Amino acid sequence: MRRLRQAKIVATLGPSSATPEMIRALFEAGADVFRFNFSHGSHADHHARYQIVRQVEREVGRPIGVLADLQGPKLRIGQFDGGRAVLQAGQVFTLDRDASPGNEHRVCLPHPELFEAIEAGQSLLIDDGKLRLQVEASDGDSIRTRVVNGGVVSDRKGVNVPDAVLPIPALTAKDRRDLDFALEMGADWIALSFVQRPEDVLEARALVAGRAAILSKLEKPAALERLDEIVAVSDAIMVARGDLGVELPPECVPGTQKRILRACRQQGKPIVIATQMLESMIAAPVPTRAEVSDVASAIYDGSDAVMLSAESAQGDYPLQAVSMMDRVIVQVEQDPLYRTLMQAQYTPPQNNRPDAICAALRDVTGILGATATVTYTSSGHTSLRAARERPAAPILSITPQLATARRLALVWGVHCTISEAVHDERQMVSAACQAAVREGFARTGDQIAITAGMPFGQPGSTNLLRVAEVWG
Ligand code: PGA
Ligand code: MN
Repeated sequence: MRRLRQAKIVATLGPSSATPEMIRALFEAGADVFRFNFSHGSHADHHARYQIVRQVEREVGRPIGVLADLQGPKLRIGQFDGGRAVLQAGQVFTLDRDASPGNEHRVCLPHPELFEAIEAGQSLLIDDGKLRLQVEASDGDSIRTRVVNGGVVSDRKGVNVPDAVLPIPALTAKDRRDLDFALEMGADWIALSFVQRPEDVLEARALVAGRAAILSKLEKPAALERLDEIVAVSDAIMVARGDLGVELPPECVPGTQKRILRACRQQGKPIVIATQMLESMIAAPVPTRAEVSDVASAIYDGSDAVMLSAESAQGDYPLQAVSMMDRVIVQVEQDPLYRTLMQAQYTPPQNNRPDAICAALRDVTGILGATATVTYTSSGHTSLRAARERPAAPILSITPQLATARRLALVWGVHCTISEAVHDERQMVSAACQAAVREGFARTGDQIAITAGMPFGQPGSTNLLRVAEVWG
């Protein structure tokens, strides 16, 4: 079973997508990676869904990626007397450390670090930016603000402080518990929320210790100041437009998305565009034209994957949302302009053997009209470098490692199959041809381009490019 597209789909699981039937149907409709959102649901919920994903994986015989998304240091206000309060523009509103229920004059902000970090003149945004407060004064115990945009505020709504680099740890106590749980469960990717500095990623990497790959979610303006460094220490990046569009004026999000895309494509790191892609499909079976255009643009720009959040987790039309994304991607990739745009963004390879071989792989594939590029890989590195080249034919990756195959589910153009290591060139060619036919990438008479490392079975040795004709 193969997909007829190169870019991938990440679908968030939730109450709308918790049964074996639904999860299998989502996979069949096009979901390549399932996201487990640790901002919602219990460990028991996640565990049950994880078991289903692995059961589906066995049934369909294809590796499926599992992305565990940690909540991160999301700031929240406390609770109100009666659950809510109404704030009027122009009034004074105070955030303090008093845990008793709030009212229209004050509420608790249970994050002591913030009281020192915030300064007069900065903004404090509540509930995805719906309410805006301007800080007038702050001491160790309270922050006095003036309400700029008022409205209804209710219990435990999120708080964003775009102007400040917060002295808060990248992983909260909850994140550490969720991380242990996710790794124990068997997640392939760990997503870190609100990354601000490369050090945040390194701290998580030390805890993960190679058990999963690390995706950094960019949703804080501070992260953009050190974008290249953060991309360099991450295994993948997500443009998390929900919080990013609160922390930045919304009109700055499209340009920022393109800037992040370019940084990732230059370094050959997979990039996921996320949030509100088909938002109206939470409640409707068809998207708006603007949403379709947004998904298409992300693909034309060279994204590895596009993501569904509430559309697949909580909406009424999870299947329709996945299949809509699938159709949009297929359509874009058939457009000759798509290949032209890929070529226009081409970044030259780095000075090392895998990059040189993968650049040659791309040329050979284009010149001969090969129907597949086959990469033998152990860690997945060669497949990533091949994907970076955006070759004209899909990348059939052969790996002995199930963990590698699952991680590569997120990556543009890569279709992974699990197979024992090969020991000589004859075996390499015949196993590649057999896999290409079996997986639907070639027929008798087609040409395929193959990369591997000699001596065989030694990771990090990619140095071989071979063209083969598929025999009947
Ligand atoms: P979230 O991340 O759904 O975990 O907030 C995505 C975003 O902010 O866009
Ligand atoms: Mn977010």
